[in-house]
Amino acid sequence: MATQVKEKKPLHLANKMNIKKGDTVLIITGKDRGKEGVVSRALPQVNKVIVEGLNVVKKHVKPQGQTRQGGVIEKAMPLQVSNVMLKCTECKEPTRVSRERRPLGQDQKLRPVRVCKKCHKVIEDRTRS
Ligand SMILES: [Zn+2]
Repeated sequence: MATQVKEKKPLHLANKMNIKKGDTVLIITGKDRGKEGVVSRALPQVNKVIVEGLNVVKKHVKPQGQTRQGGVIEKAMPLQVSNVMLKCTECKEPTRVSRERRPLGQDQKLRPVRVCKKCHKVIEDRTRS
C-alpha cells in the first residue's frame, strides 16, 4: 500500500485565510503568547503565517566550506493561523473577522473585505493599495 504523502494544496484550492501579509497580529499561544508582530509572509497552503521577529528559533549551523560561516542564526518559524489573532486596524483590538462585500474606493464598487467583529469597520488590507 502506498504511503500517504501530505501534499501542499495548489494555491487556488488553498484555504482562504483571514490574515494577510502586512497585518498586525497578536500571538495567543506558545512561548510568544501576548506578543504582537507584523505578518511578513502568509502561507495559505499550510494555514500558517510568518510573523517578523516572533516564534524565532536559534539554529546552530556548522561551517560549510568557505561559503557559510558557522554559528547561531535566528529564524522566524511559521505559526498556525489559529494561534494568532488579527488586530483590527480601526479599534486596535484583537478580533475575529467576517467577510463581507462593501462599497469601496472611488467608484464605490462592492468588493470583498474583512470586517472587524468588534467595531464592524473594514480592516485595512495593506497588500492592496
Ligand atoms: Zn475593530
